[in-house]
This record gives sequence, structure tokens and C-alpha cells, in this order.
Amino acid sequence: MKFGTKTIHAGVEPDPTTGAIMTPIFQTSTYVQASPGKHKGYEYARTQNPTRDVLQAALASLENARYGFCFSTGMGAIDTLLKVLKPGDEVIATNDLYGGTYRIFTKVYEKFGIKFHFINMENPEIIQDLVNENTRMIWVETPTNPLLNIIDIKKVGKIAKKYNITLVVDNTFATPYNQTPLDLGATVVVHSVTKYLSGHSDVVMGAIVLNDENLANQIRFLQNSCGATPGPQDCFLALRGLKTLHIRMKAHAKNAKKVAKFLKKHPKVERVYYPGFASHPNHEVAAKQMATYGGMISFTLKDDSVATAIRVMENLQIFALAESLGGVESLVGHPATMTHASIPKEEREKAGLKDSLIRLSVGIEDVTDLIADLEQALAAV
Ligand SMILES: *Cc1c(COP(=O)(O)O)cnc(C)c1O
Repeated sequence: MKFGTKTIHAGVEPDPTTGAIMTPIFQTSTYVQASPGKHKGYEYARTQNPTRDVLQAALASLENARYGFCFSTGMGAIDTLLKVLKPGDEVIATNDLYGGTYRIFTKVYEKFGIKFHFINMENPEIIQDLVNENTRMIWVETPTNPLLNIIDIKKVGKIAKKYNITLVVDNTFATPYNQTPLDLGATVVVHSVTKYLSGHSDVVMGAIVLNDENLANQIRFLQNSCGATPGPQDCFLALRGLKTLHIRMKAHAKNAKKVAKFLKKHPKVERVYYPGFASHPNHEVAAKQMATYGGMISFTLKDDSVATAIRVMENLQIFALAESLGGVESLVGHPATMTHASIPKEEREKAGLKDSLIRLSVGIEDVTDLIADLEQALAAV
């Protein structure tokens, strides 16, 4: 099946008892057994839920994976995956990471004896300098957040394979519409389903998808043992959102390209971070690796003051000032005080993240309205 057919049909079967075309919300905590241990495959709703099963199968299918697991949040998924590690293990991660991921690495897992290295992976070769016999994971986000750098998954995958290291790709920004990391050599894909996959800013959820059977068994065990599972209502909403993923992603990308071009020409704008520009340092990798350049853009102003950047954000009317991304509505955010506030200033600066950087999640509204909104917000500073 092609991608646009899978978003609508993968994993979904009419309900066998009624023929309902949409997956029912199985709002139950437990399942009746005919005799102890004799049941229909469902024992207790932390362990299995039919609504969740369908969503897990759909997400696995979209990523060309054999196994899918859903979690109550993206951080719940990341936390569960990190629990396959043990004290002494080391992780090499991109230095331009989602703030919450940086926080769980450094504030939660470091104290359990796991070591994290943060490096710029635009040149993947340098990863090898940090590999030793304790290296268990390489952790990649691409496009990175919020600087929209692109990392060559295939190249990192070759290094991971050579040293027998698990390669994790957080595919939240790109979504499987733009890239399927498992096909490029990743071992595991993690998602904040909260963002594009659900797409309507009404669900918080996470997912892990993978092909490796042994690791999948560990994740299934941890999902049930640690319990960060999503509720059936949220699984239903995520399934509903998924059905339009391909249409939404196309519209996000089309609008983002126009907004990026507008910003690039604007006299008050210093720099636009957008992988679709030929001038972007990793444009060629993006062109090869991704179906489109996505819906995220960051930019800085010539007047490099945080106060001015904040005034622009306050002036915007259609772009709502809010955390998160990937919904149908356009959002603007200030990474330094919002999504990335948990990363120390010196670490942010090392990664090239200026305090005056503005991040846009370009929605699927009429793009002329989005551009007019940016125009008036910039004119007023
Ligand atoms: C939002 C986000 C997360 C965390 O997901 P939640 O659903 O908010 O817990 C992880 N990675 C990336 C890239 C994100 O944008």
C-alpha cells in the first residue's frame, strides 16, 4: 500500500461485532475471562487495549516497522526506551535536541550512571571519536529542534552498524511522510504523537516503532511494567488525526516554503533556518533524505535583541504564542524561554541557539493570511 492509503487503512478493520467502520473506544480497565487464564487475548488494559492495538499497528505500518508501541506522552516513550540501558552505558546524542529529551538525559538518567555525550552530527564521522565499548545508543533528531539542521541518517546508520550500536531517531519533526528512518539504518524510531501525527493539538502521546524482535520484546515488557500507556480515547483521536497525515504534511510543507521565502526577503530578518533553501548547509542531505522540507522554520532578526523578538511574537495575531508544534493551526514559540529553557544558556549557545531565535510551526491556514500576519508583526517593531 502507498502511504496515503496506509494513513487511512493500516491496522484498521471493521469492528467484528457490529461492523462499525471506525475503531471503537474500548473504555474498559479489564476483560472477563471464561476460566482463569482463558481469555480473548486481553487481560488488563495497561497490558492490552484493542483501540491502542489498532493505533500501534497503524503507526508501525507508516514507519515500515514490524512493531509499534504507544505511550501516554512522547517523554513516556523516551523514558521507556532509556530503561533498556544499565549503569555504565553511554549514549551519543545530537547537541540540538528537544529540551525535554536533554532534561531527561541529564537530570534523570545521568544520576543512574548513564553517560551522555552531545555533539554536532552534521559531520557524522566525528561520532566515531566518542565510541567506546560502553556506547549503547546513538540518538538523533533530524531536522533538529529548533535550528533545523539535517543529519544524514544513512551515514549515522552505517557507523551504528559498524560498532553494533542502537540508532534511535526521534522522527517527530519529519514524520514518516517525509522520512522513514528504519529504512535508512535506524534501529528504533520514537515519536511525540502529540505533534504532527495527531495533528490537531488535542492529544498528548508518544510512540516507539522498530523491527528488532529482541528489543521489541524488551519494550513490550517495559510498556507493561512501567505503565506509561495512553488511554483509549486518546488512541481514537490519534487514529482519527492520522487519516489526514499525508494531506496535512503536504499543506504544511507548501505553506512553510512560502513563509520561509517571505522571511528571507524581509529587510528586518537576519537569518532564516529552513532546510529547503539551497543555501542551507545540509540542503543536499535534506533533498535526498526527505520527501518535503517540513513545516518548521526558525529565524532571527537583524535587531538581535530578545525584547524585539518577544515583541514580534506578541504582535502576531494568527500565529498563536504557545509551546508545541505540528497542529493544523500556526504557532510561534521562543525556544530560549519555552521549549528549550531546560537547556543551560551556555549549552544553547554552544549549539548555536541564540536567545533571540523565533520558531514557527507553520499551520495549514491560507498562507496569504499567515504572511500578512508576519508582515504586520514585523512592521510594528
Ligand atoms: C514534543 C517533543 C517530544 C516530547 O513529546 P511529548 O509528547 O511532549 O511528551 C520529544 N521530541 C520532540 C522532537 C518533540 O518535539
